[in-house]
Amino acid sequence: MTNNQLNEYDIDAIQDDGIRAQYQTIQKRFGSLALQIQSIYGLDNKSIDVVFVADGAFNASVEMNEDRYLIQLSNAVPVLLMVFFDKLLSDPGNLPWLSSEGTGDVSYDIPFAVKAKDLSDTRNWLIKTNKIRAFASYTLADIATSFMFLHELGHILGGHLKDLEKRGQRAAHAEFRMLKDAETGDTDLQQLQEYQADSVGAYLTTHIIEELIEDAKVNERTRAVFGPEDIVAENTISLAVTALYGLFAYVRGQEVRLRLHASHPDPLVRALYTRDFIYQIMQQNRSFDVELSQDMLQARFDEMNAVLLSLDLISSSSITDEGIEMANDHSRTLKSYQYERGKEASKYAFIEWG
Ligand SMILES: [Zn+2]
Repeated sequence: MTNNQLNEYDIDAIQDDGIRAQYQTIQKRFGSLALQIQSIYGLDNKSIDVVFVADGAFNASVEMNEDRYLIQLSNAVPVLLMVFFDKLLSDPGNLPWLSSEGTGDVSYDIPFAVKAKDLSDTRNWLIKTNKIRAFASYTLADIATSFMFLHELGHILGGHLKDLEKRGQRAAHAEFRMLKDAETGDTDLQQLQEYQADSVGAYLTTHIIEELIEDAKVNERTRAVFGPEDIVAENTISLAVTALYGLFAYVRGQEVRLRLHASHPDPLVRALYTRDFIYQIMQQNRSFDVELSQDMLQARFDEMNAVLLSLDLISSSSITDEGIEMANDHSRTLKSYQYERGKEASKYAFIEWG
């Protein structure tokens, strides 16, 4: 099967030196990770290609062809996430240990798509931040962009594309489909596959967390954001989960109603169980003060929600205690599905579920 509509985005033609370098770095890193995954898991001798596509949406997709897997990320994803986190972190109340001295040293004006679902709906944002905050937002945006990619790897490793093919369907999966499509079929099974892709994504995200913890030991700028040795693990874990929360909050937008029965779990539900996966995996990797890290995370959530509310990007009714309790319940339901139906959702998996 070939994709004739593939509209590859030419990142070498990006005019802005900084942005072009950022895209080139991301593509190189994703490409080398894809190679490693292929060499570890075999993947029936199929390679994994990663491309950016110019499709004007906020999307990621994966398909399986005769000789390769193809992961496509919309070219809008990295830049929108960079602007989004720049805006959030330019507020001095967010990550309050970061200095706001020199605010305006990094400054730009941009039409920002406030709704991930409709990139044509833009608002003019003036971003005024400083170098250390810009570095922090760049790093959080990078974690969020990486997660979009790692989630697609999760679909490959979970055998979900092979599963579609065996059922006589097109072996392709896109994250954001029209509502009409999304509410058909066995949504429990679809949600379980999303849960599995997220769990692989979370597992692979812990490698990024470990790299940041190591880098903070030797790199002063990284240390200024992620913390000195005595709290670096706790703080880095909480910041990585915050980055994912930011991604899910952006995707969720102002939607008030929890959508528990769509093809994808509600973004709030995803934020909650992804947080749990990351804590669980990091606890296997190293000893750290879980309670301190969770306190830090709660503080980051509160800071971020305050800015999101002030920017009108979430509605106060979407983060009520009741809504969070429902999301927690649903997250637990998915966890029990994984025990009961996990193998059925990934008959052709390349990995074992722990
Ligand atoms: Zn997915």
